[in-house]
Amino acid sequence: MTVDTWCLTLEAPLEKAQALETILETSILMESEYPPTLSYFEQPGDANWKIELFVTGTPDENMLKALLRDAALKSVPYSLEKLEDRDWVSESQKLLKPVEAGRFYIYGSHDADSLPQDTINILIDAGQAFGTGQHETTWACLHTLDTIADTVKPKTILDLGTGTGVLAIAAKNLWPDSDILATDIDPIAIDVTVQNMDVNDVKISDKFGDKGIRCVTAEGLGHSSFTEYGPFDLITANILAGPLIDLAPALTAILRPGGTLILSGLLLTQEKEVLDAYRHQGPDNTLNWEMGRVEKGEWLALKLIKPLV
Ligand code: SAH
Repeated sequence: MTVDTWCLTLEAPLEKAQALETILETSILMESEYPPTLSYFEQPGDANWKIELFVTGTPDENMLKALLRDAALKSVPYSLEKLEDRDWVSESQKLLKPVEAGRFYIYGSHDADSLPQDTINILIDAGQAFGTGQHETTWACLHTLDTIADTVKPKTILDLGTGTGVLAIAAKNLWPDSDILATDIDPIAIDVTVQNMDVNDVKISDKFGDKGIRCVTAEGLGHSSFTEYGPFDLITANILAGPLIDLAPALTAILRPGGTLILSGLLLTQEKEVLDAYRHQGPDNTLNWEMGRVEKGEWLALKLIKPLV
């Protein structure tokens, strides 16, 4: 997205800058869709402060002059310049540093020139879906996938709440022969996931047995693809504690005995209630999961292995 931004610059003592600020606050300019923003800062060795007024859209210079006059700045010289057009989305993306989690390296396209050789590199640009690897929960899920990579060989995988598709893509890299179902309640997330599959050279599929990733918009587990792809050997669900608890019976049911469930999106303080919900599954309501956990900050990923019997 490009925005047309102008900057009015002048120099004046601090009191004048403050007077301008007061007048601006009650000015009609503040009622526009993009109100102007004012900043002023001290200049070393100079009694005058530098004042910058940023205006979005082509400014009405007469209105700005009236503003300066009201702040007793009428005779102070000023400059009014259009700032270089900037793509703020990609500017902000550049601030995101690559994320390393186990063998995974999640990076944005601005870092594509400096990729490590010995990692699984996944390109995810920040955008409209959640899951750039920056969040603790995504990191904890990636880390958990890394820790199980050499010991399990899942053939069918579900990534519930796929967001950008990051976990599904990570899983596909670990287990190229698997069939993966990636679902999200949000259709935009599914569009983003499909794009990310494409840029990461991952096969998109629409049927089980293709050894690709099928991307489906679905709330919960009601869609027919769950029966087609399930039961699953591995499920990742980085959603929130509430839905994880609500989905405990259904998620347990579609996980194969001996299968691994990676749950995240929960805070450390929510661990017990989420675990309780999963323990209270099984025929006698006391399912004896084998358990592992990865903490990151205040967040947690749980690794639960469903007992064989
Ligand atoms: N898997 C990614 C994204 C996690 S964000 C990662 O680990 O980074 C959680 C995602 O789950 C969001 O995209 C949200 O739209 C989706 N979601 C939330 N509740 C859901 C539900 N009940 N069923 C399916 N998707 C859900």
